[in-house]
Amino acid sequence: MTTLNRPFNFSAGPAAIPEEVLQQAAADMLNWQGCGMGVMEMSHRGKEFISIYEQAESDLRELLAIPPQFKILFMQGGAIAMNAILPMNLARGGVVDCIVSGGWSQKSYQEAGKYASAHLAASGKESNFTTLPAAQDWQLSGKAAYVHLCSNETIHGVEFQALPDLQSLGCDAPLVIDFSSHVASRPVDWSRVAVAYGGAQKNIGPAGVTLVVVREDLLGQALPITPSAFDLKTVADNQSMFNTPPTWGIYMAGLTFQWLKRQREGDLSGIAAIEARNIAKAQLLYDYIDGSQLYLNKVDKAWRSRMNIPFLLRDDSRNDAFLAGAKERGLLQLKGHKSVGGMRASIYNAMPIEGVRALIAYMQDFERHSA
Ligand SMILES: *Cc1c(COP(=O)(O)O)cnc(C)c1O
Repeated sequence: MTTLNRPFNFSAGPAAIPEEVLQQAAADMLNWQGCGMGVMEMSHRGKEFISIYEQAESDLRELLAIPPQFKILFMQGGAIAMNAILPMNLARGGVVDCIVSGGWSQKSYQEAGKYASAHLAASGKESNFTTLPAAQDWQLSGKAAYVHLCSNETIHGVEFQALPDLQSLGCDAPLVIDFSSHVASRPVDWSRVAVAYGGAQKNIGPAGVTLVVVREDLLGQALPITPSAFDLKTVADNQSMFNTPPTWGIYMAGLTFQWLKRQREGDLSGIAAIEARNIAKAQLLYDYIDGSQLYLNKVDKAWRSRMNIPFLLRDDSRNDAFLAGAKERGLLQLKGHKSVGGMRASIYNAMPIEGVRALIAYMQDFERHSA
């Protein structure tokens, strides 16, 4: 396929989508595979959409090596709705142990308290979310229905490079992770996870789909007040079609999964290939920031995100000039989140390494002219 020479889009989310996926969607828009209908116009129960759904599900299972005892659900409401849906489904009114490593897990902790007793087991707040206590120092309650963490904090740029092994910490509770902003950027160790969920709009497609991967044995214990459409067992028993699923979003995620399967990097393919590329992209940008006199990333090196890289100008009166110049060079949506300030470069799977190089070239020019 041709490349369209679009600007590089560093949005944190909804975020850039691979060009090949957008082109395929454009080509299919009016008439999907000769059936005379676009995907948005199809019955979710027709054979056309069922084939799209089944392909997306099996491609994701293959890409992320999701074991058979896990169900894959495509829901709605986003990760924020899951902050309520999960305690309703899993906590039985008991205790949820929360690891707060940034803005998103902070929200999960607060919302869990409406439906369960939320216990703060560890927090990075004292460091302004630039680091997190080691897992051995977490204050787990010992009676939690589950432990919740956000494996990549989109706003603060803090990522778990490995998931904790709760059993080795003497904790039998299942681990629940919000992986919204790094899903499909690296493998998942399913031996350590019971539920992984995320909105699609960071790394796998447009807003409107929530991906939920849930271990089967956790289904069927929802509180009676749980809305049927949000009871994970009901959703699982109906192959995500208890109510109309977000069909367009599922189709787009499916195209993204096929794009991921086609990726190659040396001998690597699929997630391994994209992971290698993500490591290289993040390394380039962090190395440049660390070596510069103007830019600063405060996150502890052990916790730095490969996907979301916040950085400050040492002279923050130059922020607006930085952003305006970036836009002129075709480098879009670099403004940092208001709670952190400065800039943020989100370099999800769809960002090619050329985009990171173009950003660094601009940062160098800007630094030179600021000196
Ligand atoms: C974006 C994001 C959310 C919020 O998702 P919504 O789709 O707005 O509900 C939650 N968690 C993380 C880690 C995110 O990146």
